[in-house]
Amino acid sequence: MLNKPHQLIDAFGRTVDYIRLSITDRCDFRCTYCMGEEMSFLPRDEVLSLEECARIVKAFVSLGVSKVRITGGEPLVRKNAIWLFEEIGKMSGVRELVTTTNGSQLEQQAEALKQAGVKRINISLDSLNNARFKAITRVGELEKVLRGIQAAKKVGFDNIKLNTVLMRGINDDETLELVQFAIDQKIDISFIEEMPIGDVNHQRNDSFVSNTETLSTIQTAYPMTSSSLNTGGPARYWQVENSSTKIGFISPHSHNFCEACNRVRISCKGELYLCLGQEDKIELMPILRAHPNNDEPLIQAIIDSMSIKPKGHDFDLQRATPAVVRFMSHTGG
Ligand code: SAM
Repeated sequence: MLNKPHQLIDAFGRTVDYIRLSITDRCDFRCTYCMGEEMSFLPRDEVLSLEECARIVKAFVSLGVSKVRITGGEPLVRKNAIWLFEEIGKMSGVRELVTTTNGSQLEQQAEALKQAGVKRINISLDSLNNARFKAITRVGELEKVLRGIQAAKKVGFDNIKLNTVLMRGINDDETLELVQFAIDQKIDISFIEEMPIGDVNHQRNDSFVSNTETLSTIQTAYPMTSSSLNTGGPARYWQVENSSTKIGFISPHSHNFCEACNRVRISCKGELYLCLGQEDKIELMPILRAHPNNDEPLIQAIIDSMSIKPKGHDFDLQRATPAVVRFMSHTGG
């Protein structure tokens, strides 16, 4: 019989109560900072089934995890993804079920996500200019995403957050426009510094825009106060005065947030990554498949993994090769 702790605590005393699960490596966009131009995707049998995803989430929840983010790839292009959201939504112990999406499928799926118990949606949006949006995503349609945002608002998601990656000479001149859009839509926006994850077709150092610079740019136009809001994540928030909009800054380069890290990631192949910026992992898929009717080995492996969670990431833009070679779409953002 398993001697199961109530909480997952790593070697540095950090409690892990948040998982991010990538349910597919496939995406209908090919964002230039996230993927290479030619991507080959995993064959179906190398990807966790939705039932296996549910088993993994259930195991983590039994160990005290209360926040679950479903991501990808693009989670909403996975067939029957809504089934998984519904299953997780029913698990007692899940306090927050959230998702990160590019918004392209929200027009059709926002209602079902709401019904399944999804509390918050993060929608990636890097430009409000049609041609530029297409250039960054290589294939995406801005109008579709804008309609997706409206659909999410309409079904009652009142805490939508945009995620924006600014790149030098590509979209960094849109900072204020994107902030104004968030204010007008009464939603929040977070700026994520570009991370050297996956080998893409540009030098990260050339495109990198620091959040220190982005914050200064925004402060020239909007009065803001630093917010004490702590969502348990790496973002630092500012409140735009006279508006409901909060602006988040996720700054893995300029601000090391690892000491408070409360999360682990599971790739669509069932690799449990203990840190986004390091390669330490354990493989859950062989355990799941060897023990289809017994979750104890899975739970034990998760407990044991806590001893290899690294102290922190180590992103260095000067490096010739990426810090982590796998793509963000594989691990899940
Ligand atoms: N398809 C969904 C989406 O577009 O939001 C979910 C997956 S995507 C990998 C999750 C987030 O990771 C997106 O907000 C994206 O902008 C961000 N992202 C991807 N690659 C990144 C990188 N190299 N640096 C910083 N953020 C990145």
